[in-house]
Amino acid sequence: MTVLSKFGSKFGGPSGITGLMEDLGNALNSDSEMIMMGGGNPAHIPEVEEILKSRLEDILEDSTKFKRLVGIYDPPQGEIDFISAMANLLNREYGWNISPKNIALTNGSQAGFFMLFNMFAGAFNGGNDKQILLPLAPEYIGYSESGITDGLFKAYRPTIHTIDDQTFKYKVDFQSIDVDESIGAICVSRPTNPTGNVLTDIEISKLDQIARDNDVPLIIDGAYGTPFPNLIFTEAQPHWNENTIVCLSLSKLGLPAARTGIVVANEDVISALAGANAIMNLATGSFGPMITQQLVASGEILSMSQEFVRPFYLDKAKRAEELFKSLCHDLPVSLHKVEGAMFLWLWMRDCPITSEQMYRRLKARGVLVVSGHHFFPGLDSNNDQEWQHKDECLRVTYSQDDALVEKGIRVIAKELRDAYQVGR
Ligand code: PLP
Repeated sequence: MTVLSKFGSKFGGPSGITGLMEDLGNALNSDSEMIMMGGGNPAHIPEVEEILKSRLEDILEDSTKFKRLVGIYDPPQGEIDFISAMANLLNREYGWNISPKNIALTNGSQAGFFMLFNMFAGAFNGGNDKQILLPLAPEYIGYSESGITDGLFKAYRPTIHTIDDQTFKYKVDFQSIDVDESIGAICVSRPTNPTGNVLTDIEISKLDQIARDNDVPLIIDGAYGTPFPNLIFTEAQPHWNENTIVCLSLSKLGLPAARTGIVVANEDVISALAGANAIMNLATGSFGPMITQQLVASGEILSMSQEFVRPFYLDKAKRAEELFKSLCHDLPVSLHKVEGAMFLWLWMRDCPITSEQMYRRLKARGVLVVSGHHFFPGLDSNNDQEWQHKDECLRVTYSQDDALVEKGIRVIAKELRDAYQVGR
């Protein structure tokens, strides 16, 4: 029998993210007929694929570039030319006033969060423990198991605002949020995975103020956000200052396999991340930075986000929302206001079955979604276990092929009808 350490058991054991990635991998990498509405895999956008292909061809035709692509370790902070181009772009477009010393790359932003969370929370010299504060739950499932120690997160319920019979929106409940010396950092995803909520500029500036008042960093997870891939359907400005850690990613632009995360932070944080990168990875991968370097240097990464990526998802979002609302207009089910990312977040009010049971029923009907209860990391540690809402939501991804998305939504609507016992 294999006996594992605490670390081994925690990281080698079952977790929400492991189950999700297994479901996703099995559905996408096999001939299964399963309709995949469960993961965050980006769509294959033809215009984006063409651009990436031509960048790759350019590298293949140049033997020096090719050698750098496959045959040279990058420094632990990441590929230098890409980092300089990124710093220039962010200064030029947004006046962030940063240098290459303010940027580190990670092998996917997921790895960046693992390092950051464990650097700012957990056990501290002097014997105290700190937590990461998540001001608005539901939050990204991928954070939940990322602490080397348990209980790394403290989350708060949002206030829920009814927009119309079929639409609601979460907002940060600033009155409840309490930051003391047990908090090591504040983190939000913007747009939020799973809900597609986009924190407003006002909410971000209030969180920034709270973070600065308490001398802890504000981590903004921009995996779907601004300035790229810009899956934002509302108005939202990019935000950075010396106390903010912005985490970006090339994944949702169409390069999830390149595993490239980009962290913009003050020099101390970047130097700590480079150290952790060296220990964990030796170097970061060169593929993502090399294939996109020209796009960053020229600013095309922004225009392609604006012209191809954002409209592609906006169109899918509208279609999915309209179909869902028309099929479910007589059910007590509503959607979070669709503001970004690639998900519908369904709220099945007072449903006779839990979201987990609904997930299993849908899986048996060939449609893979994610049960909403996974997306509340840190509520338990805030003595907030009992909240019926946690078991009433589903996350449905609409990034796949239109015909499949339509088929999947029809199956979901039918299953909801059966659960509420409302006939057609
Ligand atoms: N943050 C959010 C909100 C995500 O949804 C994801 C992936 O789905 C990530 C971070 C991690 O992305 P990656 O590691 O591919 O950069």
